[in-house]
Amino acid sequence: MAQESALSPQPGVVVDLGGGVRRVLAPNPSPMTLHGTNTYLVGTGGSVAVIDPGPDDPAHLDAVLAALDGARVSHILVTHAHRDHAPLARPLSRATGAPVLAFGDARAGRSDRMIALAGAAALAGGEGVDADFAPDTTLADGSEVAGEGWTLTALWTPGHMGNHMCFALGETVFTGDHVMGWASSLVSPPDGDLTDFMESCARLARHSARRFLPGHGAPVEDPAQRLDWLVRHRRAREVQILDALAPAPATAAALTARIYTDIAAALLPAAERNVLAHLIDLEARSRVRATPHPSPAAIWRRA
Ligand SMILES: [Zn+2]
Repeated sequence: MAQESALSPQPGVVVDLGGGVRRVLAPNPSPMTLHGTNTYLVGTGGSVAVIDPGPDDPAHLDAVLAALDGARVSHILVTHAHRDHAPLARPLSRATGAPVLAFGDARAGRSDRMIALAGAAALAGGEGVDADFAPDTTLADGSEVAGEGWTLTALWTPGHMGNHMCFALGETVFTGDHVMGWASSLVSPPDGDLTDFMESCARLARHSARRFLPGHGAPVEDPAQRLDWLVRHRRAREVQILDALAPAPATAAALTARIYTDIAAALLPAAERNVLAHLIDLEARSRVRATPHPSPAAIWRRA
């Protein structure tokens, strides 16, 4: 994190990351996106894949088109249908003629449990969802997309969002918002599912990558350690939640205020969504119970 802020990447500037990968930073910095969204260009020959075009911003579209330097875009891949990653896919497709590929639309891949919970109660959530997103081609888990000198393998990694995919290029994996180097991901039900998130972490760990290129922030050069940290961080949070519930039942909001005593007030709503995601995961494992049923307003107690 210190290294990345010392470098303070500039939007619109093309950065060569080696291995045939270039990055163009979008001009959308925020507490949830760090410096902005990383748009990646894969391939240095005549055909290039663009991963995560980013927000619908004309200046960013111009920057991505300029970075092509005469090459043709053959594929536009989207890790997930959030507004900081997906909306520029359609304008970029119109400008280049390339198809948009993703796991599916904004609702695709939602877990059965989240579908059931969202049907039973108002779960809220839906932060930043690009509800209009629809790919031209849906990618099945494990499918391959190839161009001149490169092959990308799509890995379905639900958790941050049901339709989230990572894309493997040899030993490099583009991790979208599933793994970032500077923060843990927001997991906000019903699009986010912590049970799925943990399974997707285990899956990525089995992939034994040498480098992660996340949707926000600098490259992650120690993927195994970062995944290990993420899993331990989530397990520690789970223990904190169970401890905070020991004296008395509480709402997700009350638990968040008790646990997150050291973060900026602007980040508390996101923290509360993460706590709710943990509570729903714990409920599925019979560690906690919700009254009347799992929702942002529910009272939670230890089982
Ligand atoms: Zn996201």
